[in-house]
Amino acid sequence: MIYSDQSPITYQDALPDSVDVVIIGAGIIGISTAWFLAKSGVSVLVCDKGRVAGEQSSRNWGWIRQQARDPAELPIAIDSINTWESLSRELGTDIGFTRQGVLYLAETEAQLTQYEKWLNTAAQHQLDTRMLSSTEVDALIKDKPGQWQGGMYTASDGRAEPFKAVPALAKALRECGGLIREGCAVRSVDVQTGKVGGVITENGRVAARSVVCAGGAWSTLFMANMGVYLPQLSVRATVARTAPVPDIYSGSATLGEIAIRRRQDGGYTVATSNTNEHFIGADSFRYLRKFLPALASSVGLIRLRFGENIIARLLPVRRWQDDEISPFEQTRVLNPAPSQAAIKKMRLGLTNRLPKLADVAIEEAWAGMIDVMPDVVPVMDQVAEYPGLFLATGFSGHGFGIGPGAGRVMADLVMGRTATHDLSRFRLSRFCDGSTMRPGPGL
Ligand SMILES: Cc1cc2nc3c(=O)[nH]c(=O)nc-3n(C[C@H](O)[C@H](O)[C@H](O)COP(=O)(O)OP(=O)(O)OC[C@H]3O[C@@H](n4cnc5c(N)ncnc54)[C@H](O)[C@@H]3O)c2cc1C
Repeated sequence: MIYSDQSPITYQDALPDSVDVVIIGAGIIGISTAWFLAKSGVSVLVCDKGRVAGEQSSRNWGWIRQQARDPAELPIAIDSINTWESLSRELGTDIGFTRQGVLYLAETEAQLTQYEKWLNTAAQHQLDTRMLSSTEVDALIKDKPGQWQGGMYTASDGRAEPFKAVPALAKALRECGGLIREGCAVRSVDVQTGKVGGVITENGRVAARSVVCAGGAWSTLFMANMGVYLPQLSVRATVARTAPVPDIYSGSATLGEIAIRRRQDGGYTVATSNTNEHFIGADSFRYLRKFLPALASSVGLIRLRFGENIIARLLPVRRWQDDEISPFEQTRVLNPAPSQAAIKKMRLGLTNRLPKLADVAIEEAWAGMIDVMPDVVPVMDQVAEYPGLFLATGFSGHGFGIGPGAGRVMADLVMGRTATHDLSRFRLSRFCDGSTMRPGPGL
C-alpha cells in the first residue's frame, strides 16, 4: 500500500506564530528528526505539501539494512536498526519490524569476491555479516536449489512495513507535542539579516530559529530557489507486491536481477535491479559532471529516458516569489506510473529464480522517485550561507533503514550537540570544495 494525494488528510494542525524548529517534509527523515527534537523538549512543526510518507517513505522496499553500507553510514545504520527495534515496541502499532536478515546471492566466484571486500568494514563494527556456501544458501532459500555459488548474509538486518512504520512514528510525534500539517507547502525560508527567521508556507509565515529541509526529491529545487547548489537527481524505481504465498524465505534478498522481501501480510515485495530510470531534464546537464563517476559505476543499472514532459523538465521553474504559487503546490504527491517493462522483468525473474512464485498474482505495482546524490550518500549538514538552515536529503535509495539514525543525527545538529558520528562525508561543501566524488556502494 502507498499514499497519494487521494489519501485522506490526517494532520491539519493550525500553524503556530512561532516554533523552535520547522521541518520541511514528512517522510521518514523529517518525521524522525522531529521526533527526536520533540522528545528533547524542542517545539517542532512538520509541514508536508502532500501527505505523511506520501513519497519515497511509503513506496520503498522496506529493507532495514546494515549490510554493504558505505563505511561512513554504517555506524548510523547500526544505531538506526536498534532504534527501529525499540520503536517497534514503543509505538503501540505493529509496524512489521523483524530481524530476518539481508542476503545478497552470487552466481559466480567473481561476485563472491566482490562481496567479500566489505567484510573488513563489517568486522570493524562487530557486525555479524558472513559469507555463505551454496549449501547454506539452499537451506535459507527454499526454491530451486543449486543455482547459487554462495552469498553474503547479515542475520541481524531487518525489515518493516514502510506504509505502517512512518505514519506510526508521525502519530507518536503528535502524541509528544509535535505539530504536523499535511497539504501545506513551504515556499521558502524567511531570512532575516542573513539568518533563518522562519518559513513562508502557502498558509502563511511561521517564525522559527531553525529550519530543516528534508524534502526528498524536491530538495534540489527548494535550494535552487535560495541560490544554494545541491546536485541531486531523481530516479524512478518500480515495485510490486504479490498475493500471500508460502514462505520460501523470511528476509530480504537480491537474487540476480530481482530482489524480494517477505511481507507481514504473507506476500513478497518484489523489484528488479536493472530497471531504474532517470528522465533527462535540465538538471541532468547541470549536474552531469558531478554524476560521471556514479554513472560509470552503475552502468546497466540506471536507464536514461526522455519520456513525457520533456519540455517542462528542460525548462523548469527554478525561482519564485514568496507570494507566488510554488511548484510544490502544483504536485502534492509525486506518484509516477510504474514501468510495465519492470513488471514484466519481475515476472520473468520470479519464474527463473523462484519457480514456486512463478504464477503468484501481483496485487499492486507502484513507483517512487529516488533522490540520488553524485556519491550515493546523503547530505546531513547546516547550510553555511544560511545559519539555522539544515539539510537532510539525498539518501540515494537507502534512507528508510537509516531513517531513525539520521533523525537522531539531525536533531543533535539542530540542537548544537556534539555529533556522535563522523559526519564529514555528508557535508554539503563536498560538491564545491574540489572534492573527488567517490560513489558509495550503490542504490
Ligand atoms: C522504490 C524505492 C525503494 C526503496 N527501497 C528502500 C529500502 O528497501 N530500504 C531503504 O533503506 N531505503 C529504500 N528506499 C529509499 C527510501 O525510501 C528513502 O531514502 C527515504 O524514504 C527518504 O526519506 P525522506 O524523508 O528523505 O524523503 P521522502 O519520503 O521522499 O519525503 C520527502 C517529503 O518532503 C515533502 N516536501 C518536499 N518539498 C516540500 C516543500 N517545499 N514543502 C512541504 N513539503 C515538501 C514531500 O511531499 C515528501 O513527502 C527506496 C526508495 C524507493 C523510491
